[in-house]
Amino acid sequence: MIKEINHDIIFLKKKATPASKKDTQTITDLCDTLAHYQDHCVGMAANMIGVNKQIIACYFGPFMTVMLNPQITHKENPYTTTEGCLSLAGQREVKRYEKITVTYLDKNFTRQSQTFSGFFAQTIQHEIDHLHGILI
Ligand SMILES: [Zn+2]
Repeated sequence: MIKEINHDIIFLKKKATPASKKDTQTITDLCDTLAHYQDHCVGMAANMIGVNKQIIACYFGPFMTVMLNPQITHKENPYTTTEGCLSLAGQREVKRYEKITVTYLDKNFTRQSQTFSGFFAQTIQHEIDHLHGILI
């Protein structure tokens, strides 16, 4: 189900709690909502649809990937860039890492570890920040 985008800064600044198999409806809703906004949004965290769970969905090209309880286990080559956020107005300056390794559970709750670089790495870092209550 397509959900409304949450703009409540107090809520968005709260840390998300780990996702479990009880959160399958939220996973579906997050994917549906990201698909709806795909023209101007490449990633979404569950808190952006009002659910404070560690779930993100990102587009890697045409493919959407869901990550549950994602953790960045390695990062290298910091740089500064500007980003926008569907929950916030305007563009802001942020520090990102060019290359990251992320450990997460996929939507079948299978543990994965994957390395990303460039724009995909940037998208994941933005969404994982949301799970920690960090806004750009
Ligand atoms: Zn955002």
